[in-house]
Formats: sequence, structure tokens, C-alpha cells
Amino acid sequence: HQRRRLRGFLIDRLAAQRGASNRLVVLAGPTAVGKGTVAAHIRDNHPGVALSVSATTRAPRPGEVEGVSYYFVDDAEFDRMIEAGELLEHATVHNAHRYGTPREPVETALADGNSVLLEIDIQGARAVRREMPEATLVFLQPPSWEELVRRLVGRGTEDNAEQQRRLATAKVELAAVDEFDHEVVNGDVGAAAQEVVDLMQTRKARR
Ligand code: 5GP
Repeated sequence: HQRRRLRGFLIDRLAAQRGASNRLVVLAGPTAVGKGTVAAHIRDNHPGVALSVSATTRAPRPGEVEGVSYYFVDDAEFDRMIEAGELLEHATVHNAHRYGTPREPVETALADGNSVLLEIDIQGARAVRREMPEATLVFLQPPSWEELVRRLVGRGTEDNAEQQRRLATAKVELAAVDEFDHEVVNGDVGAAAQEVVDLMQTRKARR
């Protein structure tokens, strides 16, 4: 029994050293599925996981904090970051604002042996897969379509026209699930967060 445990431990260590563990996890999924809530839950309850803070050209919402929620930048600064190669990936989301993942904090965290979580859209997930094929892509699913609609309307941050646009986008986004390594259903936030963290701590296994 002891020997088996030691063997498992050594295999895990080797996998981690070879970068074969799921240390870079991308959490994506359709609009309003609760990616932000799951990511915030992980940030608040799993201090060992570094949550990437994106840059965005959209304006802060009430309660959002510079450097915690996002780095809020103007178009010129966003262009500069792209030009300088400072973004690991970037995308225009919902045909509106630009969002991007600062490269340096991700690379530093991985080099230090830490786990990193990116909460980004599906285009971003595809771009990370190209840039860093070792990344693990997790697709967050709503419990049902009706529940997704309820969450989008319920959070009340978008007007009616924007809600309709986002629901149309969500239909397309849901079809991307097959490009992902794992699916997690976001019924209960704590349980979904735990599933994502567990994925980061196991050796890489793809479906
Ligand atoms: P919100 O404006 O509601 O905070 O975010 C809108 C969308 O932008 C969400 O789907 C979120 O996942 C996505 N997003 C946030 N940061 C990034 C990023 O750095 N890159 C990409 N590609 N998408 C992002």
C-alpha cells in the first residue's frame, strides 16, 4: 500500500514537472452561464489558483475594481498592448468591446509552478489552445437552456436588445462544446468551482 502511494506521488510530481498537469485552465462557456461567478468563487476560496485579470476597453460597472475585476484601458492603450505583444490572446466580445489576457502574469505563475485560471470567451479559448496547446479547456454548461435565459434576463445588466443579441450568440457558443477537453455543469456555484479546481490538480486526461 505504502509503495503504491509513493508511486502515485512520484508519477504526479513527474507529470507536473513535465508540464503535463492541468495547471493552465481556460474556463469558457456561453454568455450568462456564470463563468464570472465560478471564477470569483475560486479566487475567494482557492488562494493557490491565480486568476488572470483581463484588460478591457469597456467601462467599469458599479462595484468593479481596477486591477481586480479588469484593467480598464482605452482603445489606444489596448492597441499598444497588442502591438507590444503583451496579450496572450484578445477578442472583441458581443461585437462591442475588446478583452485580452495579459501574457506576463500567466507565464510567471506557470514558471513558478502555480495554477492559473483564465475566464474568457470561446474565441479566446481557441486562441489559447493555439498559443499554449498544453492548456486544459473547460466548458461551463448551464443546467438547461431555460435556466440560461433566466440568468441572462435576471442579472439585468443588459437592455432588451442586448439580451436578444447575447442569446443569439449563446446558441452559437453552446455548439462549441466539442472543442473542449471537459464539461462542467454550473448548477451550484461551489460544486462547479470545486470540479474545476479538481481538474487542475489531477493529471491531464482528455476525453
Ligand atoms: P463582461 O463584459 O460581462 O465582464 O464580459 C463579457 C465577456 O468577455 C465574457 O464572456 C468574458 O468571459 C469575456 N472575457 C473577459 N475577459 C476576457 C479576455 O481576456 N479575453 C477574452 N477573449 N474574453 C474575455
